[in-house]
Amino acid sequence: MTGNGSFKINGPRLVLRSLLIPAGSFLIKSVLLLAIIFSSITLLAAQNKATPPEEKPVVAVIGGTLIDGTGKEPVANTVIIIEGDKIKEVGLVGKVKIPKEAQKIDASGRWILPGFIDCHIHLSSETSDLEYYRDSNSLATLRALQLMNTYLRCGVTAVRDVGSHVEAMQALLRAQRAGYIDSIRLYPCGNLITITGGHGYGMHGSMAVDGPWEWRKAVRQMYAAGFKYIKISPQFTLEEARAAVEEAKMLGLHITAHGGGFSDTIPTTMTRIAVEAGVACIEHLNEMTDDVLDLMAERGVFDVPTLMTYYASYQRDDISRFLVEKRGWSMAMHETLFKKAYQRKIVMGIGTDANGEYRELYPQIYFEEMKYFQRLGMSPMEVIVCATKNGARILGLEDELGTVEAGKAADLQILKSDPLRSFDNLGSPETVILRGKIYRF
Ligand SMILES: [Zn+2]
Repeated sequence: MTGNGSFKINGPRLVLRSLLIPAGSFLIKSVLLLAIIFSSITLLAAQNKATPPEEKPVVAVIGGTLIDGTGKEPVANTVIIIEGDKIKEVGLVGKVKIPKEAQKIDASGRWILPGFIDCHIHLSSETSDLEYYRDSNSLATLRALQLMNTYLRCGVTAVRDVGSHVEAMQALLRAQRAGYIDSIRLYPCGNLITITGGHGYGMHGSMAVDGPWEWRKAVRQMYAAGFKYIKISPQFTLEEARAAVEEAKMLGLHITAHGGGFSDTIPTTMTRIAVEAGVACIEHLNEMTDDVLDLMAERGVFDVPTLMTYYASYQRDDISRFLVEKRGWSMAMHETLFKKAYQRKIVMGIGTDANGEYRELYPQIYFEEMKYFQRLGMSPMEVIVCATKNGARILGLEDELGTVEAGKAADLQILKSDPLRSFDNLGSPETVILRGKIYRF
C-alpha cells in the first residue's frame, strides 16, 4: 500500500528533477507541474469513465435439501442464488426467481451444507523431529498449502491456525490477496506466545517471552506482522495473561488460550487464569474443575475440545512414558469434561490439532472429531452446527461465514448422501463452492 502511494506523490517531483531545469526557472517549473497534475487528473477521469461496472458471476444451486448450519430442520427443494462471493437469496424452488444469466447447478437428490471450519490446526507443522530441525520457511509454506488444498476437496473451507511459522502464514495470506494461490480461507495467529520452557517452547510456530511487558510486546509484534488472532500457551501468570488480553482487545484481535498445563494435565489452574484474564476461547478440554466450566459458561467463553488428537496419541505403541502414564484415565477425563461443557451449553467447535507424526491423520481426523462429538451425546445436527456456525463464532466472523443464508459468504458443499443419517460420507463432496467459485470433484 505505501509503495504505490509514495510513488504517486513523488512522481511529479522526480520528473522535474530529471528534466534538469536550471534553478531559478520557477515559472517554468510551476507551469510544468500544473500541466502534469492536470493531465493526471484528466487521465484518471477518463479511466474511471471507461471502466464498466464489474459484472459479478451469478450461480443458482437448484433443487437440493439444505442444511443451513443454523440448526434448523433441513429444507427440501431449495434454490440458492449466489452473486459474486456472497449468497444473495435462499428460498424454495418456484418461489425464488432464477436470473437468466445464472450458471445453474442441479442439486436435486443432493444435500447442501455450509463449508466446514477447523478451529485448531497447525498447518505448517513438521512431519517428524528430524525434519523439524532442518526445516525452512519455504518448505513450511508449501506443506501448509498442501493441507489447505486437501481440505478444499473435503469441504473444509476455513481454518484458524493456532501456531505456525510466521513467514509461512504471511506468505500464504499475501499470496491469496495477490491471486497467486487459490485455496481455503486462512485465519492464522502467527506464533503462539508462551514462556521460556512453557508449552510449545522451542517449536517452530511459538515464541517465548516472560513478564507482562514482554507478553504485551509479543501481542504487538504479532499485530504488526499482520495477524488478527492471538494464541497464548501456559504456563503464564495472571499478570502475563491479562497484559496479553488487554493488548489484544485494544488492537481488536481475537485471543484464545491453550487450556490446562503441559498437554492435558498439571497445573489445573491455567484454564482458570486464562478465563479470568478474559480470553474468548479455550483450546482443548484439559483437566479443570466444575467452577471453571461454570465461569466459561457464564462469560460465554468458547471451547475447541480437539478430542481425536488426544485419542490418537494414546493409540500409538511408541508413545513417551509421560503419555503411557496418562493412557488409563486421560480420555475418560476429556469425555467427562465434554459432557459437562455440553450440559452448560458452552459453544464448541471442531478442531484437529494433529501435529508432527499425527499429520498423516489428515483429512479424516476432522470427520472423526465430528463423530466423536456425536458419540458423546450430540445429535448429528448439533455436530454440524459445531462444524459450521460455531466455527464462525469462534473466529468472530458469525456475520460473514458459517451458514447458508442471504448476505453470508458463498462457501458451501454439495453432498451425495444425507449427513444426518451418517457422517461416514463426509469429506467427499461432489461440489464445493468457495467465495462463489465452483470446484467439482
Ligand atoms: Zn495445538
